[in-house]
Amino acid sequence: MNNLIFKHRFLIARRITQVTIMFLYFAANAWGFNFLMGNLSSSKILNTIPLSDPYAVLQMLAAGAVLSADVLGGVFIIILFYMFFGGRAFCSYVCPVNMITDLSNYIRRKFGFNKIQKRQPASRNIRYYVLALSLIISFIMGYAAFEFISPVAMIQRGIIFGLGFGWAAILIIFLFDLFVLKNGWCGHICPIGGFYSLIGRFSFIRVHHNHENCTACMKCKEVCPESQVLFMITKDSLPVTSGECTNCGRCVEVCDDEALNFSIKNYKRK
Ligand code: SF4
Ligand code: SF4
Repeated sequence: MNNLIFKHRFLIARRITQVTIMFLYFAANAWGFNFLMGNLSSSKILNTIPLSDPYAVLQMLAAGAVLSADVLGGVFIIILFYMFFGGRAFCSYVCPVNMITDLSNYIRRKFGFNKIQKRQPASRNIRYYVLALSLIISFIMGYAAFEFISPVAMIQRGIIFGLGFGWAAILIIFLFDLFVLKNGWCGHICPIGGFYSLIGRFSFIRVHHNHENCTACMKCKEVCPESQVLFMITKDSLPVTSGECTNCGRCVEVCDDEALNFSIKNYKRK
């Protein structure tokens, strides 16, 4: 039992944080329990500490909005936080969509879909083009464009206020990742993930690969939602430097040979 918990320690931590955050938003709306009010774009802890999604704020800036000190303070806190823990820790520890895409991925692995679709037919850079396009459209239209169509916002609004269109967004992303493209939404299209990948380049916390211990079983690459970041597996002892790593810890959990672990970035070592 203890071993089972240890083998899934990061998964358990991720689910606890994801569910707790959504529950706190829901509790603030339903019962006025104001520990965490708002939503993933803009919130307040204890009605005092602001938290603002930097990507949503960037869209607002492009749209010509004037930002309050509160919003800028919230952006500062969030950027500092994710520069330490890894930008895309947002994706694996906070975003509710991750629970849906993880499920699709799990089913794909269980039923061998990944073996059928060996080559990924789409570029992972699409997310950066969607990011740039959303800023251009925000500038032209005068409102935060992606916030209107974001399935992430739809799902979290659904969880906080009652599901409505949230169900449709959940189903579409689930089926898309299951049948069309492995890691399709989070790993290819979502501009929020694209934005946090840029912040993640500065992350202090990194997965580190120890070549000496590696037995080339490839379990880590099989479960990694951004397997391109593990290019050093079986080749070299190196940290994962790409901001696209979500710091989800799946690779660390599945490696039975202690060849992968989290470490603090060493700025002296290149
Ligand atoms: S899971 Fe561990 S031993 Fe297997 S290939 Fe990855 S790093 Fe090497
Ligand atoms: S390298 Fe490891 S921590 Fe990073 S995304 Fe892949 S599985 Fe998750």
